[in-house]
Amino acid sequence: MRDLIIDSVDNLKSCLELRELILGKIFSKNLTESDIIEIVDTIDDLSMEQIQKLGNNFRRFPLGCDLLETVVGPCSSSLSLNSIINNSILTDFIGFPIHICAYAIGDASENEGISPLEGFKKIVESVDVPIDLDHFGKYGPMRFPKEITHCYGECYNLGPPYKGCPKNRIHKRLIDKEKEYSHEFEEWIKLSSTVCINVVEEQGGEEHAASINEMRTVAEYSKKYGKGLEGIFHIGDGYDDLITGLKACIDLDVDVFVIEGGPFNRGKDRLKNFAKAITAGRILVKGGVVGTNGAYEDECRVGIRSGLNVIITGYSGNHHGYMCGYSPKTAKRGNFNLPKIISIMREEIKRNNLGICISDKNLIKSVAKGCLFLETPKGDLIYPNKIGNFPIGDAHWVSIKNSKLKEKTVGITLNNLDSNGKIGLLGGRYIGWGIVKHLSPDEVYVSDRDKWVEYATCHILEKEGYNVYPSNGDDKKTIEKSDKTYITSFIPEIVIRLKNKYPKAEILI
Ligand code: SF4
Repeated sequence: MRDLIIDSVDNLKSCLELRELILGKIFSKNLTESDIIEIVDTIDDLSMEQIQKLGNNFRRFPLGCDLLETVVGPCSSSLSLNSIINNSILTDFIGFPIHICAYAIGDASENEGISPLEGFKKIVESVDVPIDLDHFGKYGPMRFPKEITHCYGECYNLGPPYKGCPKNRIHKRLIDKEKEYSHEFEEWIKLSSTVCINVVEEQGGEEHAASINEMRTVAEYSKKYGKGLEGIFHIGDGYDDLITGLKACIDLDVDVFVIEGGPFNRGKDRLKNFAKAITAGRILVKGGVVGTNGAYEDECRVGIRSGLNVIITGYSGNHHGYMCGYSPKTAKRGNFNLPKIISIMREEIKRNNLGICISDKNLIKSVAKGCLFLETPKGDLIYPNKIGNFPIGDAHWVSIKNSKLKEKTVGITLNNLDSNGKIGLLGGRYIGWGIVKHLSPDEVYVSDRDKWVEYATCHILEKEGYNVYPSNGDDKKTIEKSDKTYITSFIPEIVIRLKNKYPKAEILI
């Protein structure tokens, strides 16, 4: 595997081979600790430039998700429920998912004399975007004393290395309060799109995190309701801690890695450690999405270059409001980092010519249309459903699939398509895969203006026994060879442009 990783720095075909191997092991539950160690060790031996290139390669379709996104925490224990709802509405309006700190909803709801779930429902009613649930334990929302919920974040302000809470606090839980509403537990998960679990206890952070057994319970219920599962861990020393964090997440079958740096990135070479963690995460993550919930500005920049997909941000008062995009001495509670994170993302994409885009409402609406389209009477074909070892879509699709945005989407599904002999695909991404899997046509012709996308799709479909022929980006050739050709995009501008050019091709919206 070491040679394959090294080859993958400059060769996308090696990336495809490596990702196929890793996904095969993950889906068959055969990935071992020594596999993880080999990946981390090999990346460790690369130069910073190579690590970033490698991580960025694994963000390309279909190796991982190629979107950059910010997920926004609207809540804080010091905000009224109304302010939290208003923050959520603005975030929904822009089109970013919201990240719910369950303890803050518990506190704000209690101040209004309603149960935490009733408060949460008011937020759910106000938004269509995906909802990411965090700080959630076996009884439901975790509850903390005021010294924790109102902490100014001295650990972030002081900077690494974290050697225990600078205020000598432990993240003590108010278990009696939690138990009072334990009957609401499952309803919270049902209303969420994705759920976070924290494996920091496995990394030795007992004072800072729930037990792994408790997290296992939350993970099991999230899976039961088909929700995306995110695993949070610290970079720590960048070696043993990183390996432990990755392994714990894989053991709990998480779909998304959420990696925390900031003061919890304790190694000597902080930026290399951050790039290494993101890149190793990229290769190993089941659902193709890697995020961070805590990263100083320099870590955010290095992370974006190394294949990061998600930076969790937050409004003023929310702890994510200072945890990403600031630096020691400037990171503190009261900051609002969303504008800064978007600027950092735009700068890094442009400066490094990364060829990726920042997700917005239009984009997630087109993914929602794709989610609807991939439905069949026997269930949808989306991740973790696969073709070969490659899932159709990624964890980002699961999050949107579980949102009201998808619920409100109208359009056609795979059932509306006729089975026929030779089909053409204008665009070689997941929608095309779904069409092929559903129709099992005699022959498939594929053209995509991105040569790599066309190659990867043909390679993966062919390996699964389909008769697939690339058209080298020549849409006309695809149409000529096929009985019926589909424009596989749901982005209106692309669909209109192609339909005007090729009136014979069928659209899916
Ligand atoms: S956020 Fe940091 S400073 Fe505040 S209580 Fe937790 S560890 Fe201590």
